[in-house]
Amino acid sequence: MIELRTDPRQETVRPARRYWYEELRTPRVGVCLHYDGSSSDAGGLSWLLGVDVHASYNLYVKDDGSWGIIAPLHLPAWHAGKSRSSDPERMPYPNNMANHAFYGLAVLTNGQVDVTQPQVLTAAWLTARLFAKHGWSRTDELYRVTTHSAEAWRRGRKTDPEGSNARNPIMSADDVRHLLPMFQNVEAL
Ligand SMILES: [Zn+2]
Repeated sequence: MIELRTDPRQETVRPARRYWYEELRTPRVGVCLHYDGSSSDAGGLSWLLGVDVHASYNLYVKDDGSWGIIAPLHLPAWHAGKSRSSDPERMPYPNNMANHAFYGLAVLTNGQVDVTQPQVLTAAWLTARLFAKHGWSRTDELYRVTTHSAEAWRRGRKTDPEGSNARNPIMSADDVRHLLPMFQNVEAL
């Protein structure tokens, strides 16, 4: 298997408010992918860091592949809302606790604009680093990559990160799953 290497630039950002929970109430079981719905990185990021957002992600990834942390990784971001496990056998969590069960990772784009190649590469690299942190296998536990659309309750309430055209998704869990086996030697995040 090819080992992919990438070293995307990390940004340091300062959110105006702490829109996340102060305590993790159920163990992490995976990574939940989103898009933020923004039409530009600059607009999306200033919204995410602003005083009125009342939402957050642990990680974001820009079009050029650079990335940053908004909600601290050890705390639950406000990213998923009402939720039920898409895979209760392998990723159990109490109803509506997806914020706690999953790291929230958002690509800064919307339902019309495809993710860029650097963006999906960084998203997969960050996901691999979270897998490394938990000792999750990057070949046998790919089900731990999930999406807001898969976890949202009721089903159909959210369409990210695929977008509203299911036949032409702007990004899917499989895009990230397919890259994960190629990141075996990453540092835990
Ligand atoms: Zn979402």
